[in-house]
Amino acid sequence: MSQPFDASAASAAYKNALEVIGAVEPTVAGAIRSELADQRASLKLIASENYASPAVLLTMGNWFSDKYAEGTVGHRFYAGCQNVDTVEKLAADHAKELFGAPHAYVQPHSGIDANLVAFWAILAQRIESPALAEAGAKHVNDLSDQDWANLRKALGDQKMLGMSLDAGGHLTHGFRPNISGKMFHQTSYGTDPETGLLDYDEVARLAREFKPLILMAGYSAYPRKVNFAKMREIADEVGATLMVDMAHFAGLVAGKVFTDDFNPVPHAHVTTTTTHKSLRGPRGGMVLCQPEYADAVDRGCPMVLGGPLSHVMAAKAVALAEAKLPSFQTYAGNVADNAVSLAEGLMKRGTKVVTDGTENHIVLLDVSSYGITGRQAESALLDAGIVTNRNAVPRDPNGAWYTSGVRIGTPALTSRGFGADDFDRVAELIVDVLSATTPTNTAAGAPSKAKYVLADGVAGKTRAAAAELLDVHPLYPGLDLD
Ligand code: PLP
Repeated sequence: MSQPFDASAASAAYKNALEVIGAVEPTVAGAIRSELADQRASLKLIASENYASPAVLLTMGNWFSDKYAEGTVGHRFYAGCQNVDTVEKLAADHAKELFGAPHAYVQPHSGIDANLVAFWAILAQRIESPALAEAGAKHVNDLSDQDWANLRKALGDQKMLGMSLDAGGHLTHGFRPNISGKMFHQTSYGTDPETGLLDYDEVARLAREFKPLILMAGYSAYPRKVNFAKMREIADEVGATLMVDMAHFAGLVAGKVFTDDFNPVPHAHVTTTTTHKSLRGPRGGMVLCQPEYADAVDRGCPMVLGGPLSHVMAAKAVALAEAKLPSFQTYAGNVADNAVSLAEGLMKRGTKVVTDGTENHIVLLDVSSYGITGRQAESALLDAGIVTNRNAVPRDPNGAWYTSGVRIGTPALTSRGFGADDFDRVAELIVDVLSATTPTNTAAGAPSKAKYVLADGVAGKTRAAAAELLDVHPLYPGLDLD
């Protein structure tokens, strides 16, 4: 494990906790045990998942969970929040120091919540001022019903320019079924059809034409780094707020793999993130911002959030303390190096990789040359004990449900200690499975996008080979629940 821990203390803690839980609801205690066993036994390659340390996990099971603490540090709507103040302030201080951010808001319950807080903060900062001035009010809470009606009308004209879903953007970046696509008029930028890379000139052209309030950068499935200094130039030229969603690659920013122009925090007006992906913390979100957005961001509760999850804020503080250690920089460097090894291992064995490589923790396979869909590939890989998720590739002919791609990420297995050679072997196993997968027909005789056959024996052989790798790099070594 990249994050060392005291195995005998953690074993005792979990054994005792499971005994207490099992005395009330044995099914839950059993499911917790099974989850650890399943995670230990599979090659987890889901790009958005990781393994938090026992310290982070244990921090979430305590009395902070019982406390209401709406408000901000020192300004709560409930009495008795002194201990919540301690952990919330600590988490925010760690975040500010780790990311070099002027302000950090650690209350969002998830990445989507962090984005919602950011949207409203940007709207409040950018469009309330004239509306408020006209209404003679100082603060959003002073707006009358009529002011709100005017504001809603003004909102209808606000625009967001973000990366399209099939190029690797996220649902919250203006995709129509999401609230972001309903709050804002949306236009998206894609990637270059030849190279698959972000085309900054095209982003600038669209920004000039569309004049967005928010220029959104960041991604869920784009396998390259983004030049945020260039994005900021574009935003400044058209008077947009640059918002960066670093949910996926926050660990690479914290671990100093993405620096200078590729570190979003100094360039963006507002940066959002999850804490549970490459950052390896508890499930949750955060907003980092420049000082002029801080007041509006801090009003996340009550604008879109309820009471903060104090136990999770405490775990964020622990995870951020871990991410400040030099060992986290080694981890983040290994995540990126391992992704290169995985991409090269796949490409040298004839698999098409979108953008012909990677510069972050993501490798996006295009499985169409195997004659199968992403859905068939995902299922066949799972049969063989390899956990991935299907994902659209740019301009995907199979759409977002069946897809032609599979997204693979290195953060979780790197936390187990997998190195470059191990990832080359993982690439070999993936290719073995994909080569042995063939689509079958639907009941009506048409080619199916979901059904497939995996050649006899391949699943078992791959599972055995994977088990050898997993045995060399045990998950939570020495942690014993029996
Ligand atoms: N933003 C990006 C870029 C993501 O990839 C994700 C999750 O996949 C989110 C936001 C949402 O995070 P959460 O699932 O914590 O709401």
